[in-house]
Amino acid sequence: MTQYRLTDEQKQLRDAARRFARGYLAPKAAEIEKAGTDFPKEALKEMAKHGFLGLDVPTEYGGQGLDTLSCGVILEELASGWFSSTIFAMNLATGPILAVGSPAQKKKYLGGICSGDMVPAFALTEPAGGSDAANITTRVAREGDQYVLRGQKIFISNAHRADVIVVFARSEPGAPRGKGISIVLVEKGTPGLKIGQRFETIAHTANPIWEVVFDDCRVPKENLIGAEGNGFSYIQKDFAKIRATYGSRCVGVAQGALDYALQYATERTQFGQTVASFQGIRFKVAELVSKIEAARQLSYRAAALADEGGPEAPVAASMAKLFASAVAVETTGEAMQLMGGHGMLKMHPIERMYREAKLFQIGDGTSEMLKILVSRHANRKAEDKQPARVD
Ligand SMILES: Cc1cc2nc3c(=O)[nH]c(=O)nc-3n(C[C@H](O)[C@H](O)[C@H](O)COP(=O)(O)OP(=O)(O)OC[C@H]3O[C@@H](n4cnc5c(N)ncnc54)[C@H](O)[C@@H]3O)c2cc1C
Repeated sequence: MTQYRLTDEQKQLRDAARRFARGYLAPKAAEIEKAGTDFPKEALKEMAKHGFLGLDVPTEYGGQGLDTLSCGVILEELASGWFSSTIFAMNLATGPILAVGSPAQKKKYLGGICSGDMVPAFALTEPAGGSDAANITTRVAREGDQYVLRGQKIFISNAHRADVIVVFARSEPGAPRGKGISIVLVEKGTPGLKIGQRFETIAHTANPIWEVVFDDCRVPKENLIGAEGNGFSYIQKDFAKIRATYGSRCVGVAQGALDYALQYATERTQFGQTVASFQGIRFKVAELVSKIEAARQLSYRAAALADEGGPEAPVAASMAKLFASAVAVETTGEAMQLMGGHGMLKMHPIERMYREAKLFQIGDGTSEMLKILVSRHANRKAEDKQPARVD
């Protein structure tokens, strides 16, 4: 059984991230959403200055060089102020460059991303391939010294301002499922790269999502990341890290919402006593605190397993995201309930957290897809006459 215990250094990072989240990110979230603008570069640079960008990127490329557990600990705290999906989308895009990029590609892009000077985007989803990502139809073909892309992506975060887009495309039509997909880097301004319509969303408006069209979009052959046809195996490997830390972000949002609402409930009086002192409320709070703690431990353990690279790390991470996202949705709803009508007011962050939390059950593996993975693991264990747990 994988054991973990937070070191003093991790606790210090956690406390620093909490101060930054509550002091800087939370007020920024309200201000930026009200203005209807993007997550600003200035905020990215502020995050970089405090060491909160490029958490898992090696220091030689300008990052913090942290393990997955430390990343989870920090991301949880940052999310307690603002989930800031731009940071998440940037992490997704950095992943393939970090995992299978050449030293030259790493040098070219990672430094700028870690300093907040460059915004990357991650383009996997298509009209026909969301959950069924192996079914993507955007084509990439080698022609002389170039790769040529043709096709369409949707829901791509920050595509309109991305300096570089990490694109998944089919290089081998007819290859077995999950094979024959390659990853190519497309830089801003490349002829044939067209940013189409913006999709309006109920939340995460500082992280707008876009259609991206590749119309005979040609990039130098050096822009291929990793081996041709092997792109999908890369994301499958990286899912353990991504989903474990996604679980931690969900925990952060749940904790941030509960902390805020509980503070309110200790000050609000009805029937001559504080709302927080009613037994009906105390029982509800006890349940939420317990669920948040369970989600936290599940996410930390999944992160520790991801660092070990064990075979059960991906399923542990799927469990963490599945459970923690449900806890975030439940907690943000209950936090609003705890504040009554005040919870729905724009002057409090709870209504924003409530809207933002729904994405957690959709983005980066819907809850249904995660249940398929977890139940597959459980069935395999049952066939081996083993308990359905993660060892
Ligand atoms: C705010 C936001 C930001 C995003 N950013 C990005 C980005 O930067 N890059 C990117 O590539 N994508 C991005 N996405 C897309 C996101 O990853 C997809 O929306 C997600 O993967 C789900 O795909 P889909 O929308 O096509 O839903 P579908 O796959 O069509 O699913 C619809 C429903 O059917 C269910 N379902 C599907 N298959 C099964 C099954 N086998 N069994 C049971 N149920 C099933 C799903 O769980 C879901 O409930 C973003 C989306 C949003 C909303």
